[in-house]
Amino acid sequence: MASFSSFQPEADSAVPTLPESHSGIPPYLLEKATRAKNAVFAGRTKQVNERLRLPVIPQGISRDDFLKALEELKGELGGENVEVNDKPLKDGWYMEHPNTHDMMTILDEEEFVAGAVVYPGSTEEVVKVVKWANRWLIPVFPISMGRNLGYGGAAPRVRGSVTIDLGKRMNKILDINAQDYTCLVEPGVSFYGLHEELGKRGLREHMWVDTPDLGGGSIIGNTVDRGVGYTPYGDHWACHSGLEVVLPTGEVIRTGMGALTHDGENTWGVFPYGFGPFSDGIFSQSNFGIVTKMGMTLMPNPGGHESFMYTFPNEEDLGPLMEIIRPLRISTILENVAQLRHVTQTVIHSAAANTPVGDHTWAYYGMSYGPPHIRAYKLAIIDAEFRKIPGCRKIDPATLPEDEYFWSRDRIASGTPDIHELRWVNWAPNGAHIAFSPVSPIRGPDATKLFQLGKRLHEQYGIDFMPAFCVGLREMHLIVEIVFDRDDPEEKKRALGCLRDMVDEAAREGYGEYRTHLVLMDQVAGTYAWNDGALGKFNERLKDALDPNGILAPGRCGIWGRRYRGRGWEMGKGSEGRSEGDGVGGRVV
Ligand code: ADP
Repeated sequence: MASFSSFQPEADSAVPTLPESHSGIPPYLLEKATRAKNAVFAGRTKQVNERLRLPVIPQGISRDDFLKALEELKGELGGENVEVNDKPLKDGWYMEHPNTHDMMTILDEEEFVAGAVVYPGSTEEVVKVVKWANRWLIPVFPISMGRNLGYGGAAPRVRGSVTIDLGKRMNKILDINAQDYTCLVEPGVSFYGLHEELGKRGLREHMWVDTPDLGGGSIIGNTVDRGVGYTPYGDHWACHSGLEVVLPTGEVIRTGMGALTHDGENTWGVFPYGFGPFSDGIFSQSNFGIVTKMGMTLMPNPGGHESFMYTFPNEEDLGPLMEIIRPLRISTILENVAQLRHVTQTVIHSAAANTPVGDHTWAYYGMSYGPPHIRAYKLAIIDAEFRKIPGCRKIDPATLPEDEYFWSRDRIASGTPDIHELRWVNWAPNGAHIAFSPVSPIRGPDATKLFQLGKRLHEQYGIDFMPAFCVGLREMHLIVEIVFDRDDPEEKKRALGCLRDMVDEAAREGYGEYRTHLVLMDQVAGTYAWNDGALGKFNERLKDALDPNGILAPGRCGIWGRRYRGRGWEMGKGSEGRSEGDGVGGRVV
């Protein structure tokens, strides 16, 4: 590692921990995180480049006015809370991630970059920032933790936007209610952080945090982007309850029961709908508001849990297996988001025979919940069904060493955040990743069709194929992570070409993405085009009504305000390398 330190100064620093840093690692994962960091930097050859495209000023404002505007904002937030982004772009790594750009960039690294980063300390200060943005017509881009890796990280869609880093100063757990199993959090609370706090309050034995594969993201950021976890509470958006939102023009609203004038907390977390239209939906995967507080439900400890793993020998087992999984999952005999991984995701096929798991093509990871007699009932059904596939093997956990991936799945599915999942990103030097993640029914023919589609296009572009099926409840996402060397322009071009083809081909077959990276947002939004793009037009009407000057996260999820429309800002096939359009329109209000 030391040999790289001359150009990667961050390689040798200690991994930040909780509670010193709101985005730090919990002490129980420090050693593992340090090993992960060493592995990341050992494979890194990419240099920190001098900035070649400075200054970064958003279109529509002069450099002098931009700097004047930032000076004005310093007067409102304090000088230390406004930073111009003119230093070298350090990629860091998962635990020391940048808030200035996409550390896993698939374009030129100067393309999706912030012009400045600001750190509000309260909802009132967020209001000041959006009013300021309207005064100066400067695009702003909110992040909670900015660890949205694989989807653009902390980067804004519009070059030069001012990133509002909410997490740094707004990171309180405002409430944990041990009777209702609910909590109320600010943007800078990570899954690691909430899990630590439950421990401190002696509540961890009683209630669990549902955690994604990696626990460093914020609960709010992950939830508004509709991320998932692996306990039976896996659908985070479905588990949230009530928001506080700063609208792009500076009004503050609370939704659900939070809107009661009685100070709301009593029922904020226990009933998501309140009265009247359910407005929360427009604040997820959108650019209609900045979420400053959110109610979230916690899962009661079910009184026991047990991970299980089955392997299946042949690629063709996929179809019949899906037919078995569907009724088990819909009836919640399979209780959590089920993962079916292709062998290449963990080790190359030829090496599988030498691993503790043994040779296989598909591996199923699941967990059964509840006291032993309840688990035994469900596990017997699962066993009988899975064994209908010839060659199916149940893996005995006692044969698996401590660092086996199985145990990471075991922790995550029982509410203990981990950092294990980072490993496969090191598949390539300077490893970065972007996912293709279409939704389909849990049916054999659909799974097989998507698998073949992905395999064919990966072969065509010369890319390793790493598919995993994640079965939600009535649907599944195929998650295909493309791992690429972000210092290799040719490899990035192939990765993006493959992603764009997969999105288009899958959409033609009726499969749409559930979430996507900045670079694919316009294309993916464009696939939801029924009735002459009626949904997109509806989103534009909402955007123009709520954000007439279009200052909030322009282009996020393919939604552009009227000042940007018709000026070539959308990205798609043929626009590669260019993320900007040709100017912006004038003030609307
Ligand atoms: P994470 O918290 O998982 O690290 P981010 O903070 O990067 O994720 O958030 C994911 C995406 O969701 C961001 O790119 C941003 O567009 C959006 N987002 C995050 N936090 C908020 C928020 N508080 N209000 C509105 N949008 C948000």
